[in-house]
Amino acid sequence: MKQAVQLRNVRKTYGDVEVIKQVSLSIDEGEFIAFVGPSGSGKSTLLRMVAGLESVTDGEILIDGKDVTFAEPSDRGIAMVFQSYALYPHMNVYDNIAFNLKLSRHSKSEIEKRVNEAARILRLEELLQRSPGQLSGGQRQRVAIGRAIVRNPRVFLFDEPLSNLDAALRVQMRLEIGRLHAELGATMIYVTHDQVEAMTLADRIVVLNNCEIQQIGKPMELYQRPRNKFVASFIGSPN
Ligand code: ADP
Ligand code: MG
Repeated sequence: MKQAVQLRNVRKTYGDVEVIKQVSLSIDEGEFIAFVGPSGSGKSTLLRMVAGLESVTDGEILIDGKDVTFAEPSDRGIAMVFQSYALYPHMNVYDNIAFNLKLSRHSKSEIEKRVNEAARILRLEELLQRSPGQLSGGQRQRVAIGRAIVRNPRVFLFDEPLSNLDAALRVQMRLEIGRLHAELGATMIYVTHDQVEAMTLADRIVVLNNCEIQQIGKPMELYQRPRNKFVASFIGSPN
């Protein structure tokens, strides 16, 4: 199996404070990986280092076998979806989705093709002329995902994309994200503090606590054979 993302002895400190102790991890191409853990456990920091939005204190990050430890975010073949959708309020849905493509000088017809394809996948076809203010929370989040899709990234990075949605919508969007992964077959790294999201979506889960990985495994492995009390209680395992 080809490795999409590799972290080799990655460490992060802010001044004297260590927030990620040596982490090593290999993610297969097409795999859906969830990073879970309580608030402050370093999930976002780890994801942002993969994205290139945060520098690495020690260690290496490889994407598609290429060392990107010092590469710009735009040169990594990744696209990130944030918790706050950060849509441009004065642009319609079409222009919001197309925005990054316009910056990277794609032809008009190529942009149109990609935006329409993303709109089809996300069921936004009828909403392309609306402004973000005329959308529901779930629709806005789909536009934010559309912006990532049009860039054809090798790896999608999600940082708690559903945490601003109410419970019912969260369940619906969780299904959408599962469908998206099945349809695109892309590698996805998904940060969440919601165990249920991780258990239902992920091929493998990385459990973080106290600045380090507690356990990596398939959902059922973590449930049936948690390595320690923290993993057991976090996953809700009876073991
Ligand atoms: P999570 O996403 O799991 O809630 P974070 O990765 O945001 O956790 O944070 C991990 C730790 O790093 C926290 O203790 C947080 O306070 C600290 N941290 C995050 N960003 C910074 C920063 N820019 N400067 C100093 N400390 C930071
Ligand atoms: Mg976070």
